[in-house]
Amino acid sequence: MNTSKSEALFARAQKVMPGGVNSPVRAFKAVGGHPLFIASARGARVTDVDGNTFIDYVGSWGPMIAGHAHPRIVERVKRQAELGTSFGAPTGLEAELAEKVVAAVPSIEVVRMVNSGTEAVMSAIRIARGATGRDQIVKFEGCYHGHGDSLLVKAGSGVMSLGLPDCPGIVADLAKNTLTLPYNDASKVRELFDRQGDKIACLIVEPVAGNMGVVPPATGFLETLREVTRKAGAVLIFDEVITGFRLGLGGAQERFNVLPDMTCLGKIIGGGLPVGAYGGRQDLMDKVAPTGAIYQAGTLSGNPLAMAAGCEMLDILAEEGVYGDLEKKSDMLCRGYQDNASALGVAARFTRVGAMFSMFFTGRDVTDYESVKTCDTGLFQRYFNALLEEGVYMAPSQFEAGFMSLAHSEEDIQQTIEASQRALRKARG
Ligand SMILES: *Cc1c(COP(=O)(O)O)cnc(C)c1O
Repeated sequence: MNTSKSEALFARAQKVMPGGVNSPVRAFKAVGGHPLFIASARGARVTDVDGNTFIDYVGSWGPMIAGHAHPRIVERVKRQAELGTSFGAPTGLEAELAEKVVAAVPSIEVVRMVNSGTEAVMSAIRIARGATGRDQIVKFEGCYHGHGDSLLVKAGSGVMSLGLPDCPGIVADLAKNTLTLPYNDASKVRELFDRQGDKIACLIVEPVAGNMGVVPPATGFLETLREVTRKAGAVLIFDEVITGFRLGLGGAQERFNVLPDMTCLGKIIGGGLPVGAYGGRQDLMDKVAPTGAIYQAGTLSGNPLAMAAGCEMLDILAEEGVYGDLEKKSDMLCRGYQDNASALGVAARFTRVGAMFSMFFTGRDVTDYESVKTCDTGLFQRYFNALLEEGVYMAPSQFEAGFMSLAHSEEDIQQTIEASQRALRKARG
């Protein structure tokens, strides 16, 4: 595979950008080599600047659930661009997207748009602290909630793939208010809340962990979180930046039927443009300025291009049969992966919830950060590179999710399974 143009661009970019990228996970550090620079994408495929085309399971790390350059989204964005790209004043599009979100997500009564998942989480935490008058927050090891100062403690894939310790530059007095627990350990959650529940502002969780690879919640885990936070008067925040609109129009909360007090959204909600959102109970959201005293703002928040793309995306996802189709194709792919690993005798564990999935190269069941860390990352690196040669583009880290889109065809999936078998054989040596 010729990647000389990508290599040249990477050399240029590294001179003027940290690591040559604008987000660390793009740098291919965990898999060796250099990142591919993408020129274009359409449907289920991305094409790099050297003209190599790949079946894509990264999907821009989640947003591209309808496939790349979906004609309806492209058309809607074009039309909006002609009308102006930013006004710094309200538009009808903002109310339209907010109405769609409130209608789709069971626990959201009121929602505020921001520009990224990180911003959504930072804001939700501020609301929780402001509303409860408490400082402490609880998160789980291996869950990522964006790069906000309070959240960069034991924070999953990006940090994990780079082997970074907890992040320098975070004020110790702030970090000490972030308490971390092992994912899926309900008894540790109970212990903590029994001891100091009255000091805890909020508990934040990825209802299906996606940032240490996909780790589904154990039976009853989310229910326990709901019960202890309610009893302690703490705010339960579901970070649905990945799961929102992916596991169903109503996200993980609808799928598992556990309703948080607040929800953070990102990725899919922008239809491929930068959007995040946080929302929840009316009484909590009433504390947000200008209704309430908790300040949160954004010059480009509710940007008309992004709102237009988001509205079109949610309309596409509201159509009959969308989630059944994603479920069926994701199941087909994961079964294929599983059969390959069994046939070759490779120790692996497979996790999937709806259209998000992971293959972990370990013989141990995967339930939390500790078990995920037992993976053979050397094998993953060889497999990833062999698969790339075969024309399949997956996330360049063992600790990430794979994402199915509406644009993947059954032929694409069959092709992927066959490519994966050859790659796995090569990687195993
Ligand atoms: C991606 C992600 C974020 C951060 O969103 P950005 O848009 O990258 O800032 C937060 N939480 C979860 C669960 C995510 O997957």
